[in-house]
Amino acid sequence: MSPAVENAMKRVPREEFVPAQIKDEAYADTPLPIGEGQTISAPHMVAIMAEKLQLEPGLTVLEIGAGSGYHAAISAELIAPGGHVYTIERIASLASFAEGNLKRTGYASLVTVIFGDGTKGLPNKAPFDRIFVAAGAPDVPLPLTDQLAEGGILLVPVGGRYYQDLIRVVRKGKKLEKENLGGCVFVPLIGEHGHH
Ligand code: SAM
Repeated sequence: MSPAVENAMKRVPREEFVPAQIKDEAYADTPLPIGEGQTISAPHMVAIMAEKLQLEPGLTVLEIGAGSGYHAAISAELIAPGGHVYTIERIASLASFAEGNLKRTGYASLVTVIFGDGTKGLPNKAPFDRIFVAAGAPDVPLPLTDQLAEGGILLVPVGGRYYQDLIRVVRKGKKLEKENLGGCVFVPLIGEHGHH
């Protein structure tokens, strides 16, 4: 793990991003339930994605699937100062949960939580230097590659509802270079350009 990602993992208190009744389990390296049938991702997956995205100060980042807000907070640590994280969540109660957690832990000025269907991206804030999807898509959602800046990196789990491959897409002019980073397990991405 790079020192920057290690430092971010140490600074963000994961117990502040899980429901009160499971705070004792907050540091287990596993996904944990956050309500509505959704999960906070395992710390190792958050760290791997942060490394593969090459997050650095000043970048504008879009996350699809805010969940608890934890992954957004880790990203915020890495893009500060000068950068910003936009994170979209399709379940209203979780968007509020993420927003509350991010405020309480001091990340509100670095992260904006948006309630809606993230498969459409966030055209009014595009282009993004980095985009990552924290849910499994049937295919790479087209609006997301369209909203990726030149040289930008997109990470998205692609496959079935229960098992996916983590795909990295890099924009080089009109070309999109794709690489399979290996298997992963995420809850499904549900929306117009996701599962239905
Ligand atoms: N990143 C989160 C965290 O740090 O806690 C964990 C994300 S959880 C594995 C996946 C999230 O994606 C769920 O909260 C789910 O509701 C959300 N989701 C699924 N489809 C979505 C969509 N089309 N737009 C926005 N969020 C979506």
